[in-house]
Amino acid sequence: MRKKIVAGNWKMNMNLDEGHALVAGILKGLPELNADKQVVIAPPFINIQHTFYQIEDVDYVHVAAQNCSTENAGAYTGEVSAHMIQHAGASYVIIGHSERREYYNETDAMLAQKTDTALDNGLKVIFCCGEPLSVRDAGTENDYVEAQLKAGLFHLHKHQLANIVVAYEPIWAIGTGRTASSQQAQDMHAHIRSVFAAQYGQAIADGLTILYGGSCKPSNAAELFACADVDGGLIGGASLKAEEFLGIIDAMMQA
Ligand code: PEP
Repeated sequence: MRKKIVAGNWKMNMNLDEGHALVAGILKGLPELNADKQVVIAPPFINIQHTFYQIEDVDYVHVAAQNCSTENAGAYTGEVSAHMIQHAGASYVIIGHSERREYYNETDAMLAQKTDTALDNGLKVIFCCGEPLSVRDAGTENDYVEAQLKAGLFHLHKHQLANIVVAYEPIWAIGTGRTASSQQAQDMHAHIRSVFAAQYGQAIADGLTILYGGSCKPSNAAELFACADVDGGLIGGASLKAEEFLGIIDAMMQA
């Protein structure tokens, strides 16, 4: 079902005490959410269970992991499985963030495998896609993003799409302070929806939640979220301060 979501990706920030204080601050100012307007918090692995205990009685707030292993269990030192993540209280996992693709050489094949193991273990997937600046400058961003989605997701069966959220995050806008214009975001989101419509049919595409990510903040969230095909945001830097994250959640509530 298509819903609006504001998701905060803490990346490698916040120890347990800092994370606790941040979540407490968010919960203090949180408006009443509903099935159509939800919040997801993605702390580091080590904070997942603690964050879950903080939010478990709050309706429509969920915990996400920022990554999961391609494997289910075994001799994979340093890895964390989708099963462990789900067991610790998360209901989502972010897969394919550009930082994972770039710094940890995560390939399309690995991301497809991670998506499978996440879904098999009952997690919903926030699947990231987005082009680097060179691709945007060359004007081939639609093809680039389409190829990422096909490689990572299009092996899935129709019924699995209910557990997929797509996050469009142009790499040139992540952590740079440079946001895609609302027109650029809308154009790409409409393209993404059309790609899903061609593969899975219009009803599935219409039900798909597509988030925008890249220097989203309280001052630009309302304009971005007003776009017809933008269903909320995946937020990095601005998710680390309760008042900024709440400002973005407010923009979702008004949209
Ligand atoms: C992100 O990394 O997912 C992101 C959107 O970061 P920022 O909001 O800081 O650009």
